[in-house]
Amino acid sequence: MILMDDIIREGHPTLNKRAQEVSLPLSNNDKKLLKEMLEFVKNSQDSEIAEQYDLRPAVGIAAPQLNIPKRMFVVHFVGFDNTLYEYLLINPTLEPLDSNNIYLPGGEGCLSVDRPTEGLITPRYNQILLKAHRYDPYANIVVPIELDLSGYEGIVFQHEYDHLEGILFTEKMFSDLPNAKPAFEIKSND
Ligand code: ZN
Repeated sequence: MILMDDIIREGHPTLNKRAQEVSLPLSNNDKKLLKEMLEFVKNSQDSEIAEQYDLRPAVGIAAPQLNIPKRMFVVHFVGFDNTLYEYLLINPTLEPLDSNNIYLPGGEGCLSVDRPTEGLITPRYNQILLKAHRYDPYANIVVPIELDLSGYEGIVFQHEYDHLEGILFTEKMFSDLPNAKPAFEIKSND
C-alpha cells in the first residue's frame, strides 16, 4: 500500500516536470498503480486507517507525486451535489468553459506540500471541460469520458491536473483575488 513516505514533496524536480502521456491499452502495471492510488485516497479518508498509518486526508493523488511522471490521477470524494466523484483518469485534457475565476475559501492543500499555506488562495476556472480515458477497476475496462465540472468539484480536478503539468498550487497563491469568487460560502456554526 502507498504510504506518506512514498509521496515526494515540494522541491523534488519531478513535481515541476510535465508528465508523459500514458500508452493505451493500459498496461497491467498502470492499472495496478491506479488501483493503489485509489486505495490510498480511500484509506486517507478512513479515520482508523489514516491514524494507524499516519496518512494525511486527501481527495486525490497524481502519479507524479509518487515520482512516477505519467499523466494519470485519481480522485475520490463526495461533491457538493452529494454524488461520489471516483475517477481513475489517464491522459486528461482540460479546457475552460468559463474563464471567470473562483477559489477554495481558506486555500488549497496538497500531500506534497508540508508548509502551512492557510489563507492563501489559488485562482481556478469556474467551469471546465475535462476529457480523459477512465479506468473502471471494478469492470476492468478503459473508456473515454467527458466531464463538465464547476465549483469545488472543478477545483479538485484542476489541482490534480496541474500536477501533470508540473505545477504546484504553491506556485500560484495570493492573499487576495479581487476578480475571483469563493467556490462556496464557509458556513459558521453560530
Ligand atoms: Zn496536490
